[in-house]
Amino acid sequence: MTTTLYTNARVFTATDAAAGAVDARTWAEAVLVDGSTIAWVGAAADVPSIPAPDRTVDLGGRLLMPGFTDAHVHLVMMGAALAQVNLDDARTLPEIQERLRSARDAAPDAERIWGRGWLFDAVPGGRPTAAMIDEAVGDLPVFLDANDYHSCWVNAAGLEALGITRDTPDPLGGEIVRDAAGDASGLLLETAATEIAWAYRDRITSDDDRDAAADRAIDSYLAAGVTGVVDMMLDEHNLAALQRASARHGGELPIRVAGHWLVENRGDDAANLAQVARAAELAAASASHWLRVIGIKLVLDGVIDACTAAMRHPYSDGSNAGPIWPLEQLTPVVVAADAAGLQIAQHAIGDRASDIALDALERAIEVNGDRPRRHRIEHLEYAAPETPARMARLGVTASMQPVHSDPAIFANWAAMLGDERVERAFPWPEYEGAGALLAFGTDAPTAPYAALANMYVATTRASALDPRVPATHPQFALPIERALGHATRDAAASIGDGSWRGRIAPGFAADLIVLDRDPFVDGPASLLEARVAETIVAGESRYRAE
Ligand SMILES: [Zn+2]
Repeated sequence: MTTTLYTNARVFTATDAAAGAVDARTWAEAVLVDGSTIAWVGAAADVPSIPAPDRTVDLGGRLLMPGFTDAHVHLVMMGAALAQVNLDDARTLPEIQERLRSARDAAPDAERIWGRGWLFDAVPGGRPTAAMIDEAVGDLPVFLDANDYHSCWVNAAGLEALGITRDTPDPLGGEIVRDAAGDASGLLLETAATEIAWAYRDRITSDDDRDAAADRAIDSYLAAGVTGVVDMMLDEHNLAALQRASARHGGELPIRVAGHWLVENRGDDAANLAQVARAAELAAASASHWLRVIGIKLVLDGVIDACTAAMRHPYSDGSNAGPIWPLEQLTPVVVAADAAGLQIAQHAIGDRASDIALDALERAIEVNGDRPRRHRIEHLEYAAPETPARMARLGVTASMQPVHSDPAIFANWAAMLGDERVERAFPWPEYEGAGALLAFGTDAPTAPYAALANMYVATTRASALDPRVPATHPQFALPIERALGHATRDAAASIGDGSWRGRIAPGFAADLIVLDRDPFVDGPASLLEARVAETIVAGESRYRAE
């Protein structure tokens, strides 16, 4: 096995920075890697001289830190999104229309156009219609996923391709938005987007498309310094694509992927439990550290931007949304998954949804008794003040995405809540203070996947999308060592990997990155310009900047 000594480095080990304490073990100057594992970490003066390393790399004083683990991604979907019309920085309807026209001109043979990332803020009155797309592109179906992927906006040809007519009923947990005359307006909410538009996309997407998407996603992550991801939406198609990617790489993906099997509420206990059984079967068959099924994902509610997140108290317009998983249907699924040793990841954005998530987990603990478990709640954009302590008590991880708090996309979020709740948006220090494990991710492609930009938002509460927008809630910004710790050490620990990766320590996996800037020295603002110079996974260089 080859040994490599990295010297003359500023080594941030992510060890013992949990409570913001920066002690001697947090920093080092040299790291010795033996094969795929870190053998030694320490000061330059203490580098072991016998035996001599096979290779010595002088890092010229640059920052060496653990690779990022993105604790919440949709890997194949993210790879697909990278090839679609990007609308996340289109601020107005004319801008959106202009991009669709250019996409149409650039692909005269296209059979359809798929775009992504539009914001309700960018559409007049926050009410997208089919006609608005038709003004730009009307001669072929156009499907536009919203920034948060909880709504899909389609044109008239798109509605026709999906077979939606005025007689099509709303699916359970979703809405085909209608105009005053009762016709579908072109906006599909929640399960109307996923079960109609996405199901259509699944039918027309080939395995070659999915393979290309998987490769694109993995390459992009490696270039962003991400050495592991937690996939939040595995289904038969996506898992098969990742298995094929793994086979192309000799059984070892270039990054570590642990995934959650998406369990949908079919409105019937037996059909729901059958999905848990499938996840358990896949988890039992996962033998590799590189690609594992570790749990189930449940989407309990929607999003605040579309007023589909389940709140204890109504939105500013008086409306509210019910949970996609009411407690009586959720509980049997959570109890069964817990009994099967699966990790349960529950998407809960509104405070009522996180209440329900924790009620179901408490019931599972009561039924299944004491056993090792580490469940998690995803997003927690607005949770009740007592929720962090309740999560800490139950050993539930808070999986949160700093990029979702970007001030550039905050105005609509705040307007929908419209009261003092806005002041407790994404309050990460509350989770730290309560002693809950806090794991950071990006939820790409609902937000940009770039790990360093995510850390910029985490450490400044300023916008990585638009530097002109002032910071919101700067009191919740985290010191760099804490933000990086949540995105490396804690993200790895969130899936039970805390004893072997996510830190730079002897015996840990040699998953390392080198940055061209040192944000500890240059300040958090430098995270926006910082680039990953090299990404090393299991001791092997997997990405190197030109
Ligand atoms: Zn997600």
